[in-house]
Amino acid sequence: MERLLEVQDLHVIFSTYGGTIKAVRGVDFYLNKGETLAIVGESGCGKSVTSQAIMQLIPEPPGKIARGKVIFKGNEITHYTEKQMRSIRGVDISMIFQDPMTALNPTLTIGTQLMEGLQEHQSIRGETATSKALEMMHLVGIPNPKERLKQYPHQFSGGMRQRIVIAMALICEPELLIADEPTTALDVTIQAQILKLFTTIQAKTGVSIILITHDLGVVAKIADRIAVMYAGKIIETGTKRDIFYNQQHPYTKGLLKSVPRLDLKEEQLSPIDGTPPDLFAPPQGCPFTARCPYAMEVCDNVYPVTTERSSSHRVDCWLQDKRAQQLLARTANQ
Ligand code: SF4
Ligand code: MG
Repeated sequence: MERLLEVQDLHVIFSTYGGTIKAVRGVDFYLNKGETLAIVGESGCGKSVTSQAIMQLIPEPPGKIARGKVIFKGNEITHYTEKQMRSIRGVDISMIFQDPMTALNPTLTIGTQLMEGLQEHQSIRGETATSKALEMMHLVGIPNPKERLKQYPHQFSGGMRQRIVIAMALICEPELLIADEPTTALDVTIQAQILKLFTTIQAKTGVSIILITHDLGVVAKIADRIAVMYAGKIIETGTKRDIFYNQQHPYTKGLLKSVPRLDLKEEQLSPIDGTPPDLFAPPQGCPFTARCPYAMEVCDNVYPVTTERSSSHRVDCWLQDKRAQQLLARTANQ
């Protein structure tokens, strides 16, 4: 499989009056062509900041990529100028956000907004642009595209607006689509339709997707691989199978237990107690120590070595260490 994107040892910091926030602390992952990678975690874990860093959209100052590399199609783009980035954003890499209204201009017709990208990036105008816009509206499942083209955002429902935003993101045929909580603002039935739309679009266009979400239900529907983030680090990564059926990290286990299930009553749900560490002064050891039921002395002091359980499955937890396994076996036998 061909690599589209590689992120290596990414560190992002924000300087504030209160000190330096270490928002992303050495993140590594890759994305192959045509694949969907979900980055999952609680709010504030660094998942959105990671995606903004890929696009070089970290506001600087106060933010800064302190270390690491972003490699897109074999080129390191980490130090590209704003001009170089503008030739990539919306053309090779597109991004969509949670709230479709912020991405749309209420004073312009949908047609004008759809064609803007084509004009700006590819100098496509007139009838060619119109037919491309209609084609995109058809692709994202908007009925009567010809009439709808002349309408304004407020004339569309929330779900339809998110479809328009997706059409705008895809109109220049990018190879990578980054979707940050794309269904969070929508109600459940519409969420399901939009997720299905991502799958359909991927099958038709081959676009690779990075999906940022806190919702494992969303992940289960469309991800190929999953990276679980906690306190600025990827603590476990694997295929959907690895994570849903063979998850190893206590945090991942906790996350999966806290997914609401229709067959469980309210009181059987078990959210993880406690809160993530302060990223002004993240712990030097495992950041999950304070909330982890298995925490050992070493966890407090030393960040766990990454264990490769298979070519797809990596875990940062001391429980993977043979010595911890022996210790656990001994306690169990007593
Ligand atoms: Fe728990 Fe230690 Fe594993 Fe961290 S390294 S998740 S504290 S057992
Ligand atoms: Mg976010």
